[in-house]
Amino acid sequence: MNIKYLFHNKFILFKLLFLINNNMYSRLFNNVKKIIPKISQTELIALKSGGVSIDRDIFSGKINYNKLKKNQNDNNQSDDNHSCDMIEKTKLILQKYGESNVYPLNNKININNLMEELGNMGFLGMIIDNKFDGNRLSISTQSKILTMMASYNPSIAVVTMVPNSLGPGELLQHYGTEKQKNMYLPKLASGKLIPCFGLTGPHNGSDATGNIDVGIVKKIGENRYIEIELNKRYITLAPIADLIGIAFNLKDPDNLLKTGGNGSPSGTGISLALIDKNHPGLIKETYHNPNNAGFPNGTLKGKIQIDLEQIIGGEKMAGNGWQMLMECLAVGRGVSLPASANGTSKAITYGIYNYIKHREQFKIEIGNMQGVREKFLEMFYNTWVIQSSVAFTSHILDSGAVPSVLTAIMKQQTTERARKVLLNGMDIYAGSAICVGPNNFFTKFYNSSPIGITVEGSNTLTRSLIIFGQGLNKSHPYIYSIFDAIQTNDLNKFKKEFNSMVLFCTKLYFSNLFINNNNRFSRLENLVKKYANLVNFVALMGGKIKSDQMISGHMADILSNIYLAESVIWYHNTKGNNDIPVEIRDYCIDKLCAEAEMKINLVINNYPTNNYYNNIIKLLLKPTLCKIKYDNFRNENMIYNTINNNENVIKLLKEDIFYENTVIEDLEMLSKLNKDKHKDLYNKLYNKVISVGEYKI
Ligand SMILES: Cc1cc2nc3c(=O)[nH]c(=O)nc-3n(C[C@H](O)[C@H](O)[C@H](O)COP(=O)(O)OP(=O)(O)OC[C@H]3O[C@@H](n4cnc5c(N)ncnc54)[C@H](O)[C@@H]3O)c2cc1C
Repeated sequence: MNIKYLFHNKFILFKLLFLINNNMYSRLFNNVKKIIPKISQTELIALKSGGVSIDRDIFSGKINYNKLKKNQNDNNQSDDNHSCDMIEKTKLILQKYGESNVYPLNNKININNLMEELGNMGFLGMIIDNKFDGNRLSISTQSKILTMMASYNPSIAVVTMVPNSLGPGELLQHYGTEKQKNMYLPKLASGKLIPCFGLTGPHNGSDATGNIDVGIVKKIGENRYIEIELNKRYITLAPIADLIGIAFNLKDPDNLLKTGGNGSPSGTGISLALIDKNHPGLIKETYHNPNNAGFPNGTLKGKIQIDLEQIIGGEKMAGNGWQMLMECLAVGRGVSLPASANGTSKAITYGIYNYIKHREQFKIEIGNMQGVREKFLEMFYNTWVIQSSVAFTSHILDSGAVPSVLTAIMKQQTTERARKVLLNGMDIYAGSAICVGPNNFFTKFYNSSPIGITVEGSNTLTRSLIIFGQGLNKSHPYIYSIFDAIQTNDLNKFKKEFNSMVLFCTKLYFSNLFINNNNRFSRLENLVKKYANLVNFVALMGGKIKSDQMISGHMADILSNIYLAESVIWYHNTKGNNDIPVEIRDYCIDKLCAEAEMKINLVINNYPTNNYYNNIIKLLLKPTLCKIKYDNFRNENMIYNTINNNENVIKLLKEDIFYENTVIEDLEMLSKLNKDKHKDLYNKLYNKVISVGEYKI
């Protein structure tokens, strides 16, 4: 029988599968039960939080080009006008407050005035509904505002970001009681109350709930209250916060709670509450200095007693805190930190783009030296990928989706790639990037870059554990259903899902054997097929995936690159089309595909060979290895010229950044001057730009 015919004819295949008798299914059911990783309640909640988007297509082995088409009806006119208005206000704020750090208290910026003004202008209520006096903006507009702030003054960006992400505003809006919403949201939106949110402490960092502060329900007479021993650190905005959100592990040894939260019959477990800055017993005395990045960050300590109605959502939400946090994080981490990475990369790349055209050594512009060009192109590539993915993800989030795997990818990839941009840029700006001074536009970004890497799920953990692990369970078309069937002991559901999975895997495997990369799009399509196929084999490692983090990390990278490549296509369709040379899009896609293909081979070559079955699997995977295509140096030089000769590319590169009265503006001016015609002016400006901070001994 023709094997292709067999796999395309579901009916025959289902009949064959039917022949596997029930007994065999039961044995299989038990064996699968053994290999699937043990999942804690905390992980299960994280797994269930958020939704899926095009990550499901990637795990299914196909690209949905419809989702990558330009959408004409993205924004309505009134949203556009309001968005422009807020962008103009952003410029005003930046002009007024300049580039200085906003904390510790200094005489350049009065942080209280700044926060008041940010509140009055609507920057602190960008996620709060208008009915609570908020200034709800589309995610795309929020992202543009934060990109602009981060490109000029990262510390202003941070103090704006927190109230618009994990600060209790988001939590209150989703889960607060009506009383809490009415009491706090208008004041948060206007900046009358500055929020912070305290989850982590000395003993609970990445494992945020592991060894968290404990709260105990107690009673005096008829009055029930919670006693909490607080010890939080690293809390952004804590030193200036009025309204403090805290997370703690609620215990109820005397069974005093009336109602239990969902999934927590007794109401115990991670719970979230709000406290006032003057709450008796709260100690808010010390601050940290995160790398001189210049925003308030500090500690919350003390033994406090709170009422049960201070729990966000009231007593009925006791014990639901982790789920609440996870749901809110799913959106937040796709917006603020990626916007910050975007602002950083764009500003630096635009600055260096101009610098290498003017700085000369050995009597030639350094941009004409291939070593420098190579680094600049790496900067440009990563920046283009970041800006494309930020725009695409904002578009997805604006459509109402909450894709937790994609937002984790965005947080990790954009902050990591921005760090690459930064380091390459520093190599090129060289001594001027190292010595502190007015012409050093790197220091502020160098100080703040590691923060994005560490917070909201440190990148190492996010890459090695979360992206692929969560993707496997959430984005894969069948694995979660099989997992669910096992959890609920549903043999019939297991049978149905298992059969579908076998059919899916078999088809995908055989389609991988007949692959041909005719053009760039088929290269990306084939990469998606190869990835989806590899996922099915890696999934057989079961619980080992959690500890085999090198495999899991590389699987995360491949998935990320595919998503980023799709973003680049969407961005090109939406922004560029005829105005942006297609070579820019193709250059980025080629690089993303090449990185991912190398990693596919790496995973196959490192597939465990600890037993007979794994050896067979590795053998089966060998024919699906990728053919490696190497960079063409001529193409690299051609791209450099394309960037230089196309105004629209540079227009997009500097879109949404602010650099008035900075050295980046001077560098731009140099490029506008005719070196021969305006010789004196040019030389004066050139000498100004290359001067480095000098200080009296
Ligand atoms: C400037 C700043 C601002 C912050 N703001 C806030 C805030 O407002 N509110 C708040 O609650 N918290 C805040 N944090 C805390 C932040 O979320 C934690 O720093 C973060 O969770 C990492 O914890 P840790 O620093 O203790 O590192 P650790 O948890 O000790 O991690 C050490 C390293 O091990 C890695 N790692 C840990 N577990 C795993 C694993 N299972 N697999 C692979 N790798 C792993 C980590 O990725 C990291 O690289 C902030 C931190 C900083 C520095």
